[in-house]
Amino acid sequence: MTVRVRIAPSPTGDPHVGTAYIGLLNWCFAKRHGGKFILRIEDTDRTRCTEASAQAIYRSLKWLGLTYDEGPDVGGDRGPYVQSERVKLGIYQRHADQLVAQGDAYPCFCTAPDLDAMRKAQLAAKQPVMYDRRCRGIAPSEAARRVAAGETHVVRMKTPTEGDFTYKDRLRAKPTTKAWADIDDQVLIKGDGWPTYHLAAVVDDHLMGITHVIRAEEWLNSLPKHIWLNQHLGFTPPEYVHVGLLRNADKSKISKRKNPTSLRWYEAQGYLPEALLNFLAQLGHSHPDGTEQFSLAEMGGFFDLDRINVAGPVFDLKKLDHLQGLWFRQLSPERMRDEVVRAIDTRFADLFPLVKERLTRGGDFLTLAEPFYAASVTHHLDELLPKGADKAQIRGVLEAFAKALKEAQAAETWTPPALEEAVRAVCTAEIAKAPEDAALAALWSPKIAFSALRVAVTGRTNSPPLFETIAAIGAVRCLERITAAANKLR
Ligand code: GLU
Repeated sequence: MTVRVRIAPSPTGDPHVGTAYIGLLNWCFAKRHGGKFILRIEDTDRTRCTEASAQAIYRSLKWLGLTYDEGPDVGGDRGPYVQSERVKLGIYQRHADQLVAQGDAYPCFCTAPDLDAMRKAQLAAKQPVMYDRRCRGIAPSEAARRVAAGETHVVRMKTPTEGDFTYKDRLRAKPTTKAWADIDDQVLIKGDGWPTYHLAAVVDDHLMGITHVIRAEEWLNSLPKHIWLNQHLGFTPPEYVHVGLLRNADKSKISKRKNPTSLRWYEAQGYLPEALLNFLAQLGHSHPDGTEQFSLAEMGGFFDLDRINVAGPVFDLKKLDHLQGLWFRQLSPERMRDEVVRAIDTRFADLFPLVKERLTRGGDFLTLAEPFYAASVTHHLDELLPKGADKAQIRGVLEAFAKALKEAQAAETWTPPALEEAVRAVCTAEIAKAPEDAALAALWSPKIAFSALRVAVTGRTNSPPLFETIAAIGAVRCLERITAAANKLR
């Protein structure tokens, strides 16, 4: 048997570090067994998927060196490798029709209000919320007549109602067992005629000759449906293997609130693909000798599917930074120089528009841009304290601004206009507390309050426009600097 594995990301948003992780494990498994690694794009959610996001996935996988043998932009004889193109070929509809003809699936004509009422009634009766299977009772000839008449419908799987489903995943000590009665009549074809993930993935894994589906454990719950679909479509199921999800430090599923999840971010920050892969590799699979630093090619040599860590590996950027240091210092002088130039170029492109009006000589750029890239800035007390204000007052101003900026960070509205609005709203609210108080109005005027904020964020009394500066420096550094400045005023 030739091993054939795949990753099947959905192109929504930025390419995700989880895709790289699952991609790495699959790539290594293929290499270890002389098999093929395939990329398939699962874009059947038409509201969320974009072509730009698919392009970004191709780019990021190439950047990492996770080259695929078959895929949308490289071809292969089991294509097309993009599901929306396969929809047009009628591939999924054909399989759904087969299930309906066999009596293993049925058209369901329930409308959104029907389903809503069903859900409410189930909640009120403290019953599990699931489809109550009412359309199963429609005679097949009657259902076929309504479909032919153009009535809007979905196609649902006729899930067994009795017995248990059991599967032994090779990475898990205990078999997964579920009562069929708890499993919904899964929609296979949606009202718009497009397949759901479940049908499309099972059909494609079969048609693409996938032998092992190595994926994240969030899909373990869907496994009964996938095995059932394989069996009822007459396929031999691939082996399904569920690996641990990457986790935040608090053990929740990795999220962009708590960790950078975009592969583009790592690239833009100057991480080396070698270091990121080495880091991801260690999250899932250690080197047999305990060696810390190893390459993708080496991992392809020693990778053992049965040794994958499923215990929810915690994503720790400090560990990544450590590996990055090891890899970076071993670069050839030429490649290191290229990395430095690339880092400068990236920052230059962002910062030049901000500082260009203040330049008198090219070299001024370095001085003017410093607060934007420095790890921290020095605050001089006399600059932080504009004339006429005392320490406690300015500390209050900075703390109130920090609170508003934190909210902007959480709401992901870190843009110059939104930041300006948030900060001005603080001033307006403070002044409104005592409208007659001229000293209060002066303290919260741009002249004093904004100047304290500028010094806190940049360490200088002069800078490019304040809110563009704050936006460009970024939330994490700005908030650190404001807190440091406020502490200096204690
Ligand atoms: N499209 C699914 C995802 O985005 C793929 C899951 C699978 O590998 O079966 O995670």
